[in-house]
Amino acid sequence: MTNASNSAQSPVPNAGTRVLHRTSTSIPPRAVRGEGIYIFDQNGKSYLDACGGAAVSCLGHSDPDVRAAMHAQIDQIAYAHSGFFSSDAMEELADELVASAPEGINKVYFVSGGSEATEAALKMARQYFLEIGQPDRKYVIARRQSYHGNTLGALSVGGNMWRRKQFEPLLITASHIAPVYQYRDQRDDETPEAYGLRVANELEAAILELGAENVAAFVAEPVVGATAGALAPVPGYFKRVREICDQYGVLLILDEVMCGMGRTGTLHAIEQEGISGDLQTIAKGLGAGYQPIGAVLVSKKINDAIANGSGFFQHGHTYQGHATSCAAALATQRAIKDRNLLANVVKQGENLVAALEAKLGQHPFVGDIRGRGLFRGVELVADRETKEPFDPTLKINAKIKKAAFARGLMAYPMGGTIDGVRGDHVLFAPAFIIDENDVAKIVDLFAGALDDVF
Ligand code: PLP
Repeated sequence: MTNASNSAQSPVPNAGTRVLHRTSTSIPPRAVRGEGIYIFDQNGKSYLDACGGAAVSCLGHSDPDVRAAMHAQIDQIAYAHSGFFSSDAMEELADELVASAPEGINKVYFVSGGSEATEAALKMARQYFLEIGQPDRKYVIARRQSYHGNTLGALSVGGNMWRRKQFEPLLITASHIAPVYQYRDQRDDETPEAYGLRVANELEAAILELGAENVAAFVAEPVVGATAGALAPVPGYFKRVREICDQYGVLLILDEVMCGMGRTGTLHAIEQEGISGDLQTIAKGLGAGYQPIGAVLVSKKINDAIANGSGFFQHGHTYQGHATSCAAALATQRAIKDRNLLANVVKQGENLVAALEAKLGQHPFVGDIRGRGLFRGVELVADRETKEPFDPTLKINAKIKKAAFARGLMAYPMGGTIDGVRGDHVLFAPAFIIDENDVAKIVDLFAGALDDVF
């Protein structure tokens, strides 16, 4: 619908031009219906949602069980402030999350999304050290090429310099070490294990440089999503990270906002690394987009220190533990379990990577195909031999998004920056319900979009 036709129908001048949060001046189509992995616009055009929005819609759209659970909750009560009331949905969701959490986790702190979860985890880490009498521990170490949210604390620890740049004066101090980026950084004479050890040891060096007595936490995404297109860790990396954190008394905060809740084939991505964090953030797939919700999974160690110290975590948000959000998340998590969808994530994830390799593995501008489960990234390069990224002014990722969308495919294109070098990545994070035919369609449409651009 054009702005002109919109204005003609509406008594409001310039109707349809008031939303600020767009990057483009043109008004996008309106999503009027969703069904499974498809979204339909006002003209009836369908879009295959191959990225779950931003790795959110893990059950697809209009799931009947989630809709029924939300209706039931709203019919009882939609919201009651958590300072006065609990709800069945919140209590049952917390019980189920703790029962399926990595070892050591025994509490859940609910929030409304990923950035709020990062903020809560950072503040909880700080409060933990105050409770145990180590007030100097204030610095946070994170990784370059990472994203932990857009609020000021989350932006401070995020390692995407492009996003941080203009807000730098407002940010808290954080140091950044190398991410695990095998495609670009593993040396030819190095095994994955040796490479993992080398980059993990950068954490030790950073802790020693800051003085261990000053360092509160290390924050990392087990599989990096939005800034680098599904970068998975190498074997042994997180074991060494856990060892270093334990040796120096530094807390490990795992950000599973994007890679968690089944996306990589296990409920938590960190399960595949054989360790657990002291705090772990989750969001996106937790409520599958039916309602905004996030959470911090809290270890007994942290909870005990706060419970036995000042007695409560000094934080809070109006919508934490929102009953309808908890009902949606509970129904989502039960659907994933009851329908055995994690097995499908593994199976279709393998199909997706095989199909991408078969169709695009030799494409002159496809440098790397990577990831885990239904969390797969494609890195595009100007030169496969040298791995030279495209000139950023070409805006390759934006062109690919546009071409794919025109063909009816939603793919998540990103441009990240590593030490000043920009790269173009496309992320695939479809719903856990996809089948072989859907995988083939995604790859065909994406290959068509690449043809349109190159
Ligand atoms: N952490 C990670 C790893 C993310 O990918 C994101 C969002 O993409 C966030 C945090 C922030 O989540 P939100 O956008 O819900 O605030």
